[in-house]
Amino acid sequence: MLEVSGLNVKYGEVAAVKGVSLSVPKGSIIVLLGANGAGKSSTLNAITGLIPSTGSIVFEGQTISGQPAEDIVRRGISLTPEGRRVFPSLTVAENLHLGGAAHAGGDALKQRMEEELDRFPILRERFHQTAGLLSGGEQQMLAIARSLMSGPRLLLLDEPSLGLAPLIVDKVFDLIASLKAKGLTILLVEQNASRALEISDYGYVLQTGQIVLHGSGSELAQSDLVKQAYLAE
Ligand code: ATP
Repeated sequence: MLEVSGLNVKYGEVAAVKGVSLSVPKGSIIVLLGANGAGKSSTLNAITGLIPSTGSIVFEGQTISGQPAEDIVRRGISLTPEGRRVFPSLTVAENLHLGGAAHAGGDALKQRMEEELDRFPILRERFHQTAGLLSGGEQQMLAIARSLMSGPRLLLLDEPSLGLAPLIVDKVFDLIASLKAKGLTILLVEQNASRALEISDYGYVLQTGQIVLHGSGSELAQSDLVKQAYLAE
């Protein structure tokens, strides 16, 4: 579904992503592991056209490198950014509406809203509340629901479990698995390597901008590098 080859991202003279190649087959969950500053967010932001990059990005057979971010969303890729960036002064309803308004109108938009409120009953309860007053877990659910409002076939999730209480982390991983079960394809960036590898079909390890290891979830979980760097208790 997504083929990234030789992706490079530079901030001035600093090379943050250096020749990254990865493949996301339809219907899979693919994880990108790496320490702070390894280049994970830069990779996701480049795929979604939010920052300039060089190299090749092909989505469903079409080259999308260099296209504006709004066109890439329209093609069916949506990013839930790191840090639960909801609009805090807007209501849950308004946040959801903003996620979908550019991609659907009228009845289609209403139907998507209903689907997301069925998927996230807590958001129905909080529908008219200001997003900034929601708990961290609720804000993360809202951020994911807002991404889903654009009707993506490929969802990019940037550290969805970061900073959440353990019980909420469980809910987030259950949700990701259920999205896959419903047919969505997912590229997941995570620091919680053990949970991420459990639900992933395949994974890549990024270090200082380069892929240093890749393999199935179980292969990576058993590798010395991953055990030492990402699974240490
Ligand atoms: P984190 O989990 O901390 O977000 P990451 O793996 O997602 O880490 P990136 O955020 O992609 O890593 O950052 C990769 C490198 O690029 C780091 O060295 C970072 O300092 C640098 N970097 C990221 N954004 C910018 C920017 N806007 N300007 C300059 N350098 C940046």
